[in-house]
Amino acid sequence: MFSVDERKSSNVLSDWHRSLAAAIRDPAELLHELRLGEFAVRVSAAAAKAFPLMVPRSFLARMRPGDPDDPLLRQVLPLDDELQPVAGFVSDAVSDAEFRTAPGLLHKYHGRALMIAAGSCAVNCRYCFRRHYPYGDEPRRLDDWEPALEQLRTDSSISELLLSGGDPLMLTDARLGQLIERLEAIPHLRRLRIHTRLPIVLPDRVTDQLLAMLTESRLTPIVVVHSNHAAEVVADCEAALRRLVRAGVTVLNQAVLLRGVNDSVDALAELSESLINVGVMPYYLHQLDRVAGAAHFEVDPDVGRRLIAELRKRLPGYAVPRYVQEIAGEAHKTVIE
Ligand SMILES: *Cc1c(COP(=O)(O)O)cnc(C)c1O
Ligand code: SF4
Repeated sequence: MFSVDERKSSNVLSDWHRSLAAAIRDPAELLHELRLGEFAVRVSAAAAKAFPLMVPRSFLARMRPGDPDDPLLRQVLPLDDELQPVAGFVSDAVSDAEFRTAPGLLHKYHGRALMIAAGSCAVNCRYCFRRHYPYGDEPRRLDDWEPALEQLRTDSSISELLLSGGDPLMLTDARLGQLIERLEAIPHLRRLRIHTRLPIVLPDRVTDQLLAMLTESRLTPIVVVHSNHAAEVVADCEAALRRLVRAGVTVLNQAVLLRGVNDSVDALAELSESLINVGVMPYYLHQLDRVAGAAHFEVDPDVGRRLIAELRKRLPGYAVPRYVQEIAGEAHKTVIE
């Protein structure tokens, strides 16, 4: 996370910081931009207070003006539905807390560990499974990472380090570079995986410096982006993904199956096609984690199974994502078959 000092010390903000600063934070403004002013009554002030709206203008530009059911809009608009308590939907839906082996470090699966590298995102997705995560408790300054780094040094079974969040690309290139340097110094680490939605929602973030950092690292870079709909993979986002792929980075996509966003064969097939056309491999389609406030996005797993079966008839085998669910206590994400 960039500190205020760091931003002050460079006289000019980078383009992506400027784009981030210009993100829309007012639901009424978002709807006005989309010529949907009359739908402002649908917005829940209480939901927006609990988890604020945040939408970069690049993402807004890919929404259809005049369409209250736009699949991109639906992912970000705070609604009253979020406030309804629904049995089974809880704060820590994936029991992350018990796998925290050091501040900011989650070690759940064999061979890979995950660092909560930043607490914020450039977009607030209403279904986010980390919307209740206590980010305030995680490390902020580089030195705060020392216990996590020490844990990684002493466990030679870990060969892959995941940077997650929040969104790890909310770190400045300078800060990310310092962290990667420390990780490179751990001999048994071989791969660096970055889980980020920024190439999708804030494509400016794919800077030349970032590409250089990833491709020049001793660690093999894998970037896992998060796109849920083909309408996201256009324009500046499409260009940013191409740049990552052409630089030689393995780029995978994970999506979440969301009611009213991508719960149809057409939507999922178009998403996969858009991704593979730019060289991004569909990796996971996640069953929604049952986080409080997200129940209205849930799709029945039987429907999900049928959608995947239909996708298999339409797409190359490599373009069909694995349909998975996070089940607490399992040694891996569980494939729903
Ligand atoms: C999902 C996840 C991973 C990565 O799992 P893969 O199946 O390798 O993609 C690692 N650590 C945690 C805590 C996770 O939730
Ligand atoms: S980008 Fe990812 S971590 Fe951030 S709000 Fe969206 S789903 Fe959550």
